[in-house]
Amino acid sequence: MATTGSGEEAAEPSAPPDTPNTEASCVAGQQVGRQGSRRPALSPSRAADFKQCPLLYRFRAVDRLPETPTKAQLRGTLVHSVLERLFALPQSDRNPERAKDLLAPAWTELAEDRPEWTELFPEGDGKTEQVTAWLESAAELVDTYFGLEDPRRIDPEACELHVETELGSGVLLRGYIDRLDVAPTGEIRVVDYKTGTAPREIGEAKAMFQMKFYAVVLWRLRGTVPRQLKLMYLTDGQSLAYTPDEPELRRFERTLEAIWQAILKAGRTGDFRPSPSKLCGWCDHKARCPSFGGTPPEYPGWPEPDSGEESPLDRAD
Ligand code: SF4
Repeated sequence: MATTGSGEEAAEPSAPPDTPNTEASCVAGQQVGRQGSRRPALSPSRAADFKQCPLLYRFRAVDRLPETPTKAQLRGTLVHSVLERLFALPQSDRNPERAKDLLAPAWTELAEDRPEWTELFPEGDGKTEQVTAWLESAAELVDTYFGLEDPRRIDPEACELHVETELGSGVLLRGYIDRLDVAPTGEIRVVDYKTGTAPREIGEAKAMFQMKFYAVVLWRLRGTVPRQLKLMYLTDGQSLAYTPDEPELRRFERTLEAIWQAILKAGRTGDFRPSPSKLCGWCDHKARCPSFGGTPPEYPGWPEPDSGEESPLDRAD
């Protein structure tokens, strides 16, 4: 059953408040199941792309055309990085001021890693003010996060966890989990931070698809169905918690297998058709889309070795 609310805490699979733990606890991690490899895999973002529009999938996963992030997307990537760093601090240090102090250094590192992202703030009059205002808007998301939960009470097992598993059918699933909380009783909670500006009715189905994807991966890796899938919306301070069950995950696994078979079929022929919708407003590829009078580049063929990778921007939607 799904529940929504501001700051609500359904099932708390983490250290209770009176559990002393001053150690830094959250590390970026990796859990890879059978046949970990870099061969083509299905990620939640790319699966959602194909469901939305096969041609969008092709542009992103096959042609791998660059996209220009918006400032809002970039802010999401920054806030995800800050929350990861926050959980690497000792629990007692995880307060709003420390978290906001992490914003500027995290942005410096992102800008060094991806200098092209700094082009969103062109040189010239007002650049400093623009970056300052943008960092302040990121600080508001951090404040909203603290309104949803107290990170001093949480002892995650991992942040930015890379997970990968192969289903019995041979479909390889791959993705990154924002945060994994595991209770002393073994109950698993999957946490995802949402920082995007897309309307909730558009983003929610996609977000729940993503969370069920991670639930299937963890179930297959660990043999345990996660107790809770939790979405935290940092733009409006709402959260949504969902408890999956095994029959549902079995059905969802078949859905993922069907999506992958459809992708492989399209990959063999190059027949990735456009599927216009109101989501085209967020598509970076309208100019080359036949539905908008454009012409796609020549089909380059199915990519090897990997077509399932998610970018940091995917993880921050
Ligand atoms: S503009 Fe719309 S139909 Fe065209 S590729 Fe993008 S999402 Fe698909």
